[in-house]
Amino acid sequence: MSNATDGDGADSLDSLDSLNSLIMALPKAELHVHLEGSIVPELALKLAARRGVALPGAERGVEGLREAYRFASFRDFLKVYIALSNTLQQAEDFSDAVFGIAEGLAAQQVRWVEMTFTPMTHVVQGVDPDAMLAGLADGRRRALEQLGIEFAWVFDVVRSLPEQGPQTLELALRARDQGVVALGVGGPEGPQWSVVPLAGVFERAHAEGLKSVPHAGEQHGPPSLRETLDLLAPARIGHGVRCLEDPELTAELADRGIPLEVCPSSNVALGVVPSFTAHPLPQLLAAGVELSLASDDPPLFGTTLTEEYRRCVSAFGWGPEQVLKIAAAAVRHSFMPEDRKRALLAAQRSVAQAHASLP
Ligand SMILES: [Zn+2]
Repeated sequence: MSNATDGDGADSLDSLDSLNSLIMALPKAELHVHLEGSIVPELALKLAARRGVALPGAERGVEGLREAYRFASFRDFLKVYIALSNTLQQAEDFSDAVFGIAEGLAAQQVRWVEMTFTPMTHVVQGVDPDAMLAGLADGRRRALEQLGIEFAWVFDVVRSLPEQGPQTLELALRARDQGVVALGVGGPEGPQWSVVPLAGVFERAHAEGLKSVPHAGEQHGPPSLRETLDLLAPARIGHGVRCLEDPELTAELADRGIPLEVCPSSNVALGVVPSFTAHPLPQLLAAGVELSLASDDPPLFGTTLTEEYRRCVSAFGWGPEQVLKIAAAAVRHSFMPEDRKRALLAAQRSVAQAHASLP
């Protein structure tokens, strides 16, 4: 295959087609995606109708809901996010949400997903924790059996509600044999929301063998990352893109090999960066920071995982080698067992060789 940056127009188009088909065909891992933020409008309407939940714009059907998804501010985003969360009430709702999301991921050849879920958002609304965990487990089992996609869970704590930390950890430990691999921190980020009150919970999570994958360095810059590195011993960091505001911090992330989960369209939608082409992903790679590409809340940010790859190809001129390298990074940074990693990496290489004449 010719390189996208040389040859005449027809060659370039061939290259793009070939890159698109490589992106679609590569078996992939997705490491940063939220359950509640992955519910596409069609699935949301089904879940909302079952429980009589009002969704913004839903009186105009899928189109109206789709419009509401194209939020204008973080506040609008939260409104839709909370409404989506409220559609999940009984075990079958959680199961159907997981399975519906899995169908969308399987169509993109995602084979392994570490999905963030915020259990206390539902528990404080009166959802029975046992029904919630049973529903997640059922959806996960159906996704594996019927679609060949495996879910691991990151149970996360809302940063502004640290008092929910201990119960989140308790639920995470209770659901360990249902695929919980890590504890996370999400929600609003800013100087007023320190992770100091969560340090003890994360210490206990580590002692129990859970990994730490907090969001940091997204809405708030280097101080949030500094505190996260010092107090939460992260195995990976969600976003982290604002490390570049502090060269020492960036060097530390690179030296310690702490990978970032980079979600460019999310960063654009939430105003962390002005545009996709202005996203600092290339600078992070140039600085030696390990990273994978992820979709965060895909339907809310008008994207999918494969779309993130396509946008990187278009914005940063990636060729097949770069696409494969980033797809492999997600597998290497994942918490899947080592033998499974080796198998998925080998499968990626063979698909890439077939598609793009890679050595
Ligand atoms: Zn996120």
